[in-house]
Amino acid sequence: MIVVMKTSCSQGEIDRVVERIQQLGLKTHVSQGVERTIIGILGQVLTNLQDTLLLLPGVEEIIPVSKPYKLASREFHPQNTIVKINDIAIGGDEIVIMAGPCAVESEEQLLATAREVKANGASILRGGAFKPSTSPYHFRGLGEVGLKMLAKAREETGMPIITEVMAPNDVELVASYADILQIGARNMQNFILLDEVGKTRKPVMLKRGLSATIQEWLLAAEYILAKGNEQLILCERGIRTFETSTRYTMDISAIPTIKRVSHLPIIADPSHATGKWYLVTPLALAAIAAGADGLIIEVHPNPDLALKDGAQSLTFEHFRQFTSQLIPIVQASGRKLATSSIKIKS
Ligand code: PEP
Ligand code: MN
Repeated sequence: MIVVMKTSCSQGEIDRVVERIQQLGLKTHVSQGVERTIIGILGQVLTNLQDTLLLLPGVEEIIPVSKPYKLASREFHPQNTIVKINDIAIGGDEIVIMAGPCAVESEEQLLATAREVKANGASILRGGAFKPSTSPYHFRGLGEVGLKMLAKAREETGMPIITEVMAPNDVELVASYADILQIGARNMQNFILLDEVGKTRKPVMLKRGLSATIQEWLLAAEYILAKGNEQLILCERGIRTFETSTRYTMDISAIPTIKRVSHLPIIADPSHATGKWYLVTPLALAAIAAGADGLIIEVHPNPDLALKDGAQSLTFEHFRQFTSQLIPIVQASGRKLATSSIKIKS
């Protein structure tokens, strides 16, 4: 249930409504918009509460929230959430490009990629140190050694880093290196992990599960929000369908759907969605045209030698072409590319 306050209401009236709700043992979430203040009520609401709240000064109307997720819903929080990482804002008028290798393999591989993607439009560096792997025999990442390489690449280039955390026990360690914690598709419903990243105050990017509905995805987001971490970004990375010619099927419709039902920023990952380097740019363009707030793209100096996801990784040359094709679409959508103001150390 949400309480919509009158445009003319005073702070004292807002406080009184909040106090009244909290007296009943319910939690509140106040969302102060430019025009209106909305007070969300979390918990089991008794039917007569609606009538009594309507009697309080400053209250305009009471609306039941139709969605099972509350904090993630636009009903609760009408204005867009903007996630800030240094001078980069995700969810506003800028399109943010995160790029880098699937997995951190060596200092040379990571640094060369970081410099290249930064010079060609990326503002955030991606790279996995703890890698989820469908097969236990494949590369599973360098662990903390990889995190140290990411920190070094950040120091050299000034780019913030996004990297995956897979286990609740690793959250503290990964958060001590990362600027954004990534929750991978396979862990979207690892509820203990969601609780743990929710307890941090680090930005989190929550990828959609391989077979998750939009509602299940937003309920997973709700876990993180419910622990008080509002610095949350969603990422559409393709879902499993009957189609086998691509790795997954990129659900472009999820992007405007999320924008409609939620206030959270959404990033698209055409690399994992398609599994093929030559499909990455077309799907990236489609995602931006559909309203995505950014992209996460896999890039490798030598995709044929990559320890992971080489088939979907762009070469440096392909990444330059990707950016030049992307810019006109970004401009046509009335937005601009985010660029970090920090210069590369020479
Ligand atoms: C990744 O980003 O490297 C990754 C493993 O992605 P996903 O969880 O979407 O498969
Ligand atoms: Mn990958």
